[in-house]
Amino acid sequence: MTTPQKVEEITLGVDSELRFEIESKENVILELKSGFAELYGTELAKGKQYEFHQGAKVAIFTFHGCVLQMKGKPDVSYVAKETPMVQYLNTHTALEQLRTNAEEKSTRGPIVMIVGPQDVGKSTLCRLLLNYAVRMGRRPIYVDIDVGQGSISCPGTIGALLVERPATIEEGFSQQAPLVYNFGHVSPGDNNKLYQILVSKLAEVSLERLETNKKGKSSGMIINTCGWVKSDGYRHLLHAAEAFEVCAIFVLDQERLYNELLRDMPRFVQVVYLPKSGGVVERPKQLRMESRDNRIREYFYGLRSPLYPHSFDIKWCDVQIYKIGAPALPDSCMPLGMKTEDNMTKLVTIQPSVALLHHILAVLAEGSLDDIIRTNVLGFICVTNVDNERQTLTVLSPQPRPLPNTILLLSEIQFMDSH
Ligand code: ADP
Repeated sequence: MTTPQKVEEITLGVDSELRFEIESKENVILELKSGFAELYGTELAKGKQYEFHQGAKVAIFTFHGCVLQMKGKPDVSYVAKETPMVQYLNTHTALEQLRTNAEEKSTRGPIVMIVGPQDVGKSTLCRLLLNYAVRMGRRPIYVDIDVGQGSISCPGTIGALLVERPATIEEGFSQQAPLVYNFGHVSPGDNNKLYQILVSKLAEVSLERLETNKKGKSSGMIINTCGWVKSDGYRHLLHAAEAFEVCAIFVLDQERLYNELLRDMPRFVQVVYLPKSGGVVERPKQLRMESRDNRIREYFYGLRSPLYPHSFDIKWCDVQIYKIGAPALPDSCMPLGMKTEDNMTKLVTIQPSVALLHHILAVLAEGSLDDIIRTNVLGFICVTNVDNERQTLTVLSPQPRPLPNTILLLSEIQFMDSH
């Protein structure tokens, strides 16, 4: 016999937020009984049951007050009256003003970047601003250059997505046809040169796409960034701001970064400081690794609506596998005229072997062999077995065979398929 779930009715006053976290295996079901409420900018429908699972970190906010019913027992749960939501709403209002002006003059809408250290709510603020924008009928582009978590595709990638609908409460934004580039590492510092090339390419293509339709153009872009904000990490932020031609940067929770950007940005770029929400939860290293793993599992198996990936063998001779960047050598050991940096963008042919086991491989879109580095990817497969005798790889793939392209790029990221 299962124990009956605890049922609680929670009344939220104006401008307050119910925050809860689920660490155990217990599920929590939430229902809006009356009033209005939203999760990171997505409105809750009255009378609909929303289910949250292990790992969920949730904030249900209300501008007008509401009554919620909660079934199940989260590990942490409290009501917060102090939130930065009014400031975030004002930020949205300012962006909306810029979009209206852009629409009238047929110019480009606001391209803005959200920056700050790890775990200050950058991704959450992006989601909120995108949701508010689509709820106003806009079609903004969401760009994510945070290779550590990968909210658009697998970790180790950067990408862009046209947002046409608000995120769903349980699954986030619909990820149809994103533009994705494979970086293959979880930190830009693993190959600074390659990261910069990919950010430039993503910016170039995203800016082109922005020009293709009037509505998209006036809606602008929201860019999420890495939490690495010192030394090379800071230089990557400056480079991204320039490449994407941003008009504003919102700095979450770090005055030092705010002042550095004020000093280094040209005058036409507005640098705005925003506080972080007290609800944002810090994730230790272990949890970050788990959430990366969950992201990859979600890519192959889906989240709430299940996906059924395929498993098949491919012959070694039928694919060409490359990686970008050869092991670093001191300049003195490099061929005449080459520097270590060139080595980091070198295309290296990989001979299939057991070393590929559990690695993610990016399937490249058709492109020229000369410019593999700047070619976007169609999707990812994971190597689940290597047979030396038969010279085959068994792969997990979202699509049945054949692969849409036989040119594959090795990622350092690994995934153990436990299904
Ligand atoms: P960052 O992108 O800066 O690393 P995130 O936006 O991913 O940070 O936020 C970190 C975690 O905190 C996420 O799991 C998110 O769901 C949670 N979170 C964000 N805002 C709140 C809030 N107001 N209350 C509770 N949890 C929150």
